[in-house]
Amino acid sequence: MMKDLPGDSKDHQLTVALRIRPMNEAEIEEGATLVAHKVDNQMVVLMDPSEDPDDVLRANRSREKTYMFDVAFDFTATQEDVYVATMKNLIEGVISGYNATVFAYGPTGTGKTYTMLGIDSEPGIYIRTLNDLFKAIEEASEDMDCSVYMSYLEIYNEMIRDLLNPASGYLDLREDAKGEIRIAGITEVSTSNAKEIMQLLTKGNKQRTQEPTAANKTSSRSHAILQVTVKQKSRVKNINEEVRVGKLFMVDLAGTERAAQTQNRGMRMKEGAHINRSMLALANCINALSEKGGKGAQFVNYRDSKLTRLLKDALGGNSRTVMITHISPASTNFEESRNTLIYADKAK
Ligand code: ADP
Ligand code: MG
Repeated sequence: MMKDLPGDSKDHQLTVALRIRPMNEAEIEEGATLVAHKVDNQMVVLMDPSEDPDDVLRANRSREKTYMFDVAFDFTATQEDVYVATMKNLIEGVISGYNATVFAYGPTGTGKTYTMLGIDSEPGIYIRTLNDLFKAIEEASEDMDCSVYMSYLEIYNEMIRDLLNPASGYLDLREDAKGEIRIAGITEVSTSNAKEIMQLLTKGNKQRTQEPTAANKTSSRSHAILQVTVKQKSRVKNINEEVRVGKLFMVDLAGTERAAQTQNRGMRMKEGAHINRSMLALANCINALSEKGGKGAQFVNYRDSKLTRLLKDALGGNSRTVMITHISPASTNFEESRNTLIYADKAK
């Protein structure tokens, strides 16, 4: 669990959360049963619906497999619960000049966009984070001049598009002289209120590449990345240099469903390959970082995908990372849920 505040000895921290969404109407109509349960705040159990309980009994083993997380949520969790246990802990750090990243991971239809963006009556992590960020900035030292910039982009088939200005075409990732990653020509909106950001996000979301697949009508085949940069300058010192920069990335990842299930052909197949590649690169990066406590950062191959290249600053060094894994509770999605849980387990 992420309870330590900036300044502690560990320079990188990873939290892996799991959210099991409620059953939906389609699943209930199909006659699906509940196979994913939360046992306590950290343990979930997944039951294999294809196994005959009698066979299992005879063989003296269990149909159930348990998985451990830093924090687990089920259908009873509110948007506020999820926010408080994950992203909220990272805000202080961003203001102190640390980087932070939150990922929503899982197959299409499991609630990634619900967690990140939310719906009007149940706003998600984006707006809650931004509200608290602006509040914290207001309360921060009066000696500092603070400015906040946001960018919103997607990575689709290893190409970067500016969701705030799609007309600019595909953008390049570059490393500047200081080794910082920049996206050439990306829109950076200077902003001071969360409402304005939400309007930009809603507009940007309409530009996301969403293509129908057999699994779901609006499967997202792209990663959507909201980047918020907090820059602070000292008012006291008579210098014009930035003293502190904290970056915050909030990522709604592409759906991770398998090509086989979506009966992908041609273009969809290619998308699937790109998505698998960036998920693998991401898992490798997160895995390496968590194993080596950040010190292994030099051995991590960020180059393997655009996603990990872009997030290099945010995944290594002085950063905090939260991965919120999403699954359906239904027996009809058992295979997908199992694959997802295995992936999340590896990331830890
Ligand atoms: P994804 O982005 O992973 O494809 P969505 O966030 O679009 O999935 O969720 C699919 C549907 O399920 C949406 O209609 C969403 O509102 C609903 N949903 C997802 N998670 C929850 C939840 N925790 N509580 C209530 N409804 C949810
Ligand atoms: Mg989505």
